[in-house]
Amino acid sequence: MKLSRHITLLTDDGDDGWGLFYKARALKDAGHPIVELTIGEHDIRTDPSILSAMHRAATGGHTGYAIVPGTDTLRDTVAARIAQRTGQHTTRDNVLITPGGQAALFAAHVAVLDPGANGAFIDPYYATYPGTIRGAGGVAKSIITQAEQAFQPTRAALDAGLPGCASLLINSPNNPTGVVYSPATLDTIAAACQDHDVCLISDEVYDTQVWSGTHISPRSLPGMAERTLVVGSMSKSHAMTGSRVGWLVGPAEAIAALIDLATVTNYGVPGYIQDASVFALEQGQDLEAKIAAPFRRRRDLAQSLIARQNAVRALPADGAMYLMLDIRATGLSGKAFAGALLDAHQIAVMPGESFGAAAAGHIRIAMTIDDTAFRTALQTILTFAQSQITHKARMHHAR
Ligand code: PLP
Repeated sequence: MKLSRHITLLTDDGDDGWGLFYKARALKDAGHPIVELTIGEHDIRTDPSILSAMHRAATGGHTGYAIVPGTDTLRDTVAARIAQRTGQHTTRDNVLITPGGQAALFAAHVAVLDPGANGAFIDPYYATYPGTIRGAGGVAKSIITQAEQAFQPTRAALDAGLPGCASLLINSPNNPTGVVYSPATLDTIAAACQDHDVCLISDEVYDTQVWSGTHISPRSLPGMAERTLVVGSMSKSHAMTGSRVGWLVGPAEAIAALIDLATVTNYGVPGYIQDASVFALEQGQDLEAKIAAPFRRRRDLAQSLIARQNAVRALPADGAMYLMLDIRATGLSGKAFAGALLDAHQIAVMPGESFGAAAAGHIRIAMTIDDTAFRTALQTILTFAQSQITHKARMHHAR
């Protein structure tokens, strides 16, 4: 079949280190005892109470077409949640229910990018970002951040990257870095978006996983509600990754147009999944805290192990289910380090390079295995990093 240029150029990112992930998966499938610290998925399943609500809704008959924008009840529930978190008046007219955060990211870019328009994103980035912008017909433009500035975008970087762009995509709490944007960074982003007349797409799917500081939605900042689309999801907050349910929140006229897009794409989200989401959201912060608790525990555990050594430097792990470690002292690239670690210890981590040029010389660790196994794996990684530094020093002296 002759495929369109559009679809064949979607993932144009070359060899980006995902080869290591597939190698580890293949080894695991072949029966090797691989410790996978690669993927952002909880090690618990969806809570039984949510599954019961789903079952009740399905057996109660909510299995036909659901209305395209989402059920009134779920839209109202999401609107109330967003209003409470942002202080901004939000009603169901500001909410579109989507099949997950990823579909919301795609729809948001379709809403603000004309064909061929530039869509900016922050590097390091979640793997799908450039492809999502291209998929929506835009041209993906990265804005590089620096490890030394905890990967928070600066005004200078935004002023250099935003001219000529129609949108800026940000993500806080951040995957892959675990960084939470400071109030000052968010003010800077808001000012830059207004000065360069850019729409902001704010991916907040990790907003319930904040370990220090607070999550601030830029929708709450002065002048931003009218130019911001917020991406949300039940995937991370409620361990509902497979249920594919999320949302977009934005100005009512943007949501009205996005409902037309939803009509010609996914045509709604299953009603029983939406009912289960209402149930889950109504449980409030207790359930969210319970689901986030293992990551908070492992992050604290990691901090105590990392504090006892000098081989790797940790980025401030303020949120999300990831740790970003700076392994540049070993002299290895993230990709070489991850490859050697897999060969030597059967531990799979993601090379920083998989998430963009800015994360070169780093590795990303997903804190998604049980505490004891996590502690052992992290200790092994730290010892391995130290051995690489010792090896490098020996080679240097031998020269
Ligand atoms: N955004 C970020 C930053 C993510 O890490 C993910 C998933 O890993 C998503 C969006 C998409 O999540 P979902 O489509 O499951 O809501």
